[in-house]
Parts: sequence; C-alpha cells; structure tokens
Amino acid sequence: MERIIGTYTGAEGGALVLVFGAVHGNEPAGVLALQEIFSMLEREPVVNPEFEFRGRMVGVVGNLQAYSTHKRFLDRDLNRLWTPINLSRIQQAYPDSLQNEDKELAELLDLIHEEIRTCRPEALVLLDLHTTSADGGIFCIPSDDRASLRLAKELHAPVILGMLDGLEGTLLHFAAGNHFEIGGFPKYSIGAAFESGQHNDPLSVSRSIAAIVNCLRAAGCIRPEDVDSRHESILRTFSDPLPKVTRLRHVHHIRPGDNFDMRPGYVNFQPIQKGEHLANDVGGPVLAPEDGLILMPLYQPQGSDGFFVVTEI
Ligand SMILES: [Zn+2]
Repeated sequence: MERIIGTYTGAEGGALVLVFGAVHGNEPAGVLALQEIFSMLEREPVVNPEFEFRGRMVGVVGNLQAYSTHKRFLDRDLNRLWTPINLSRIQQAYPDSLQNEDKELAELLDLIHEEIRTCRPEALVLLDLHTTSADGGIFCIPSDDRASLRLAKELHAPVILGMLDGLEGTLLHFAAGNHFEIGGFPKYSIGAAFESGQHNDPLSVSRSIAAIVNCLRAAGCIRPEDVDSRHESILRTFSDPLPKVTRLRHVHHIRPGDNFDMRPGYVNFQPIQKGEHLANDVGGPVLAPEDGLILMPLYQPQGSDGFFVVTEI
C-alpha cells in the first residue's frame, strides 16, 4: 500500500483538495472511496467530453502503518498529535529516529508541504474521512470558520458545531489555523471531517464517495452537472431523518486505567436523558450529565473519548 492513493490535476488552476482516509487505521471506508473516486475521474472525460477539472486533488492514506495492521493506531492516536509544539518537535528530530505515529506525522507534513510548494494554491481544502464504531449516524465536523461551515453544509450530512472545542490536536485543527502555509501559500485553508457511518458498513464507502464529490463541487473543482454520483441518493436517504445542525455539549474523556465500558445498544443521535446509565468504569456507573443526543459511543478497545453529547439547534 502506498501513502498516495491517487492524484488528479485539472487543465485549469484552482483549489488544492487534500482528502485523507484512514487517519485511524481501522477505518478503511475512506481509502476505498478514494480508490473509486480516482477511477470515476479517469472515466469521466471518456463519457462526458464537456468535463473540466480545476485545481488538483490528492487522496492520502493517513496512518499507513496502522492501516496495514487494521488498528486505530500503533502508539498514539494520529488525530490528536497535530499541535504546533508536537509538529516542531517532529521537524527538529532526525527522520531516521522517528517511529510509528511520529513517523506518520513527519511523512504527512512533508507530503502536504511538497504539494503546496508545487501547486501554490490560493485555497487549501481538506476533507478528512472517518467512520465510527457505533451504528446509526453520519455527520460532518467543520473547522471553526464560516467558509468551513459552508463546505460542511454542502456535504449534505448533519453538521456538528463546537466539536473541535472538545478535542485537541486533530488534523482539522491544524489545517484550520492555516499552519500548513509555506512561502505565502495557501492564502487560506478550510476543512471538514466527515463521518460516513459504521466502520465495516459497505454503505459507508458509498456515503464517503458522495461526500468527496460534494466537496469537489464546493471547492469549485467540478461543475454541478458533472460526475454523476448515484451515491448521493444513498447519502441523502440516510441524512434526511437526522437533525440538520447540532452543537457539542459534553465529551466523556477516558483516562488510562479507566477500563471504560460502554453499555450495549447505543447508536449515533440516540436521545439520552440526564442520569441515564451509559457506561461503567473503575469509578462505577457513568451517567449522562444532561439530556441530549449521544454521538460516537465507543465500542472498540482503542480510543480516548467514551462518548459525546450534542443537542439540536
Ligand atoms: Zn476516525
């Protein structure tokens, strides 16, 4: 398996769109969706002579080592390591001394900088594809600016606001601060994470394909009438009954040694009530702190967040 799944460059200039799959190695849907997207883009000019592409798209495997062993991560969650302090530590280290997630981080940073140096894009658009261990929900998480919120809405899935406040060191945090800027490019960057469903649900691949096509439209790379996506109706069918916009209210962080154990049967966006017995850990029962909708209840051994609570707005 190579780090770069594929690239596609248009005849006209435009945004640099970086799409990541498997930043968590046990989430293959994004990688499979990217493989399919690149074959769709190769076929498109053959069936549609009017097709034009502006800018450049690159599909990337996030945690390559974890992906090859089907694990979320090896040492540490790659999606919690994108802090300026950590990145400067990595850049100052000897490349040969870096291992596991540190090595992944260094390689990704090099790749992104190389793309920016070559393309010199006005806009960097970052889409980070994920799946969840629980069933029952798709949603997207914009970074904290208006343009990213617009992008998230165009992905046609429920939008969760304030999610980045509850997390630290995500790839999206880093992109949102325009920390990838090198030599004055990009002028600005926007981004969203997209959760396409349960890890091994084949429809999670279809919904990721639809999200990538919607992202390319929002970024101005392709026109609305091009790249017919039959996957879009699968995405819409799933999104329509879910709340359109919700806001993060609570994150249950897990500390080492907590032995967090989510009680069975919870799905994304399931209503919960204050005081409801959601999980157990070394301290005894873990109760819901308030009424709301549960998101990402943790049903896998690796992970630093037990569940999230959101409310509809
Ligand atoms: Zn993930």
